[in-house]
Amino acid sequence: MSSSTAPLPRRVVIKFGSGILTRPDTAALDESQFARLTQAIAILKQEGHEVIVVTSGAVAAGLNALGFTRRPAETSLLQACAAVGQTRLMHKYATLLGACGLNVAQLLVTNEDFLHEERRGHLKDTLRSLLERKDIVPIFNENDSVATEELKFGDNDALSAGVAQIARADLLILFTSVDGLMPPGENSGIVEQVNDISEVMDYARDEKGEFSVGGMASKLKAIERSVNAGVETLIANGRRPEQIPDLVAGRGIATRFAAKPLHTT
Ligand code: GLU
Repeated sequence: MSSSTAPLPRRVVIKFGSGILTRPDTAALDESQFARLTQAIAILKQEGHEVIVVTSGAVAAGLNALGFTRRPAETSLLQACAAVGQTRLMHKYATLLGACGLNVAQLLVTNEDFLHEERRGHLKDTLRSLLERKDIVPIFNENDSVATEELKFGDNDALSAGVAQIARADLLILFTSVDGLMPPGENSGIVEQVNDISEVMDYARDEKGEFSVGGMASKLKAIERSVNAGVETLIANGRRPEQIPDLVAGRGIATRFAAKPLHTT
């Protein structure tokens, strides 16, 4: 029997929210964060994993171009920012991953698309064709010009659960600005393992930043969906991208939510 400790190749969905893609307290995309996150993606690809990214940051990337120093309240202005920012966002991923010999694919979808049988089928087919080509990293965002759910409250948390489900991923990692889920009212550190999500649904506390719209409540709802679909899901700190390969290998600092076993008939 082989004594190799190399991790098994896994299909991993990684979600980067606006809060970890922008510099703290400014709307500008954080160049060094992008470099570190894309470096971690390249390492996972070298290790043989399949990597799918769900990214926010389009609104943040467009704010400056439209002359805003703060996030506007009006939804149509957020959509305009996203439309401009999406091209800038993808340019960053394409440039940085391109330097590692990887191509990017852009997939703009809405939560509605997962519910529509024909569109869901098309999406699965597209994803399969993309994942067969080992040099491609599929990168999802909400199509913010036609849907506003993630703009208003989700920051792509629900979308990433939908992507993980449709991709039949082994692992979903939701990156946030904290190390993991913390019990409310205590500073006793993070919960490392959750086997039953229903026991921690009331742990959410509001830690949203000015440029991010997701929060722990939206993450826990998304995690409930992904673990029920059989996908192990992690909450981890997006400011520690160097630990991404460890997280995929089952190590590192994170809250791990066990997948619910799926009953096959
Ligand atoms: N899809 C949006 C984005 O990429 C959601 C996040 C937000 O509203 O800031 O920017």
